[in-house]
Amino acid sequence: MHKDPLLPITTVALPGTSLQRACRLLVLICALHLSVTLVYYVSGGELNIFQYFVQNQQAQYRGIANATPSSVQNLLKPEYNAKDQEESRDTSNMVDLPNCPETSPLLAGPLRIEFSVSVDLEEVRKINPNVREGGRYTPEDCKAQQKVALIIPFRNRDEHLKYWLYYLHPILQRQQLDYGVYIINQDGDITFNRAKLLNVGFAEALKEYDYQCFVFSDVDLIPMDDRNIYKCYSQPRHLSVSMDKFGFGLPYNQYFGGVSALSKDQFTKINGFPNNYWGWGGEDDDIYNRIASRGMSISRPDAVTGKCRMIRHNRDDKNDPNPKRFDLIAHTRQTMNSDGINSLSYNVIQKEKYPLYTKITVDIGSPR
Ligand code: BGC
Repeated sequence: MHKDPLLPITTVALPGTSLQRACRLLVLICALHLSVTLVYYVSGGELNIFQYFVQNQQAQYRGIANATPSSVQNLLKPEYNAKDQEESRDTSNMVDLPNCPETSPLLAGPLRIEFSVSVDLEEVRKINPNVREGGRYTPEDCKAQQKVALIIPFRNRDEHLKYWLYYLHPILQRQQLDYGVYIINQDGDITFNRAKLLNVGFAEALKEYDYQCFVFSDVDLIPMDDRNIYKCYSQPRHLSVSMDKFGFGLPYNQYFGGVSALSKDQFTKINGFPNNYWGWGGEDDDIYNRIASRGMSISRPDAVTGKCRMIRHNRDDKNDPNPKRFDLIAHTRQTMNSDGINSLSYNVIQKEKYPLYTKITVDIGSPR
């Protein structure tokens, strides 16, 4: 029975009153939760959580296995301190790389070499982004088998040098060598001395890096096959064995001119190269004699792999055939112990680091 007829029927029911109380309590709890969340957000807590989320997403995007930010990881370590962080940065550069394979998987084989279009060095730089200042390169994902210095005797051959850089940088990188390019520029206009410049290249390159192998190359010779590896072997290596200029063969069996490679040890064993061959010819024959006199033999690629092109040119000024060369070659055994890397003297006039090579200009004196 209704006691008060003015009260609506719904409010009359007793269970409705306890539901109201429960609702009020729920609203109160929600308000409390909302205000706590608001205070936390304003104090910055929510921002960090958001940052962590973004970092996590980015890390996953980059394919990093453990996406927890390093700061968080470090804080989780009980022994964490700032010094640890410094050390982990240092050791990250010293990751042990696997050795590069005996045969590089990047080799292409026979190459088309031509000299009809002129080369823009800025373009060459762009297509070789991994070559560092001074013409240095080190493979990124494996440890090179050899550290090779490429030594080029030079004077007034800038056009030839451009071709050499254009063709050789990509080849040497495909050969997975840890290498540096050194242009040894003879200062002044005294008669050219190729072998003495090569000695200077050996000495100067060693001041920069722990090279174990030295490739001595004329600036106008380009290999036609990248399987002709510009590295050192157990015996001194002759690389330019099949030149277009000589009808893709050797002009004579003892020929050791053009491009050759000697390890530091082999070079030291023969007391380096002669310093007294001024003008064209003979110095390569003297080097051959030195090698033979020390009981070493010449190693060579086959005539197909060893094919190479020479850039045609007129004979340079101040590099006429040396009339004394026949007499000098006849006496290598008598002179080689006192004339060589042990008697080398020169003055460095200038050392320039270009993006694709190091150029060292030297005063090497004059014929006595
Ligand atoms: C010279 C060498 C030269 C060779 C091929 C010889 O007569 O002595 O220096 O490399 O001819 O041109």
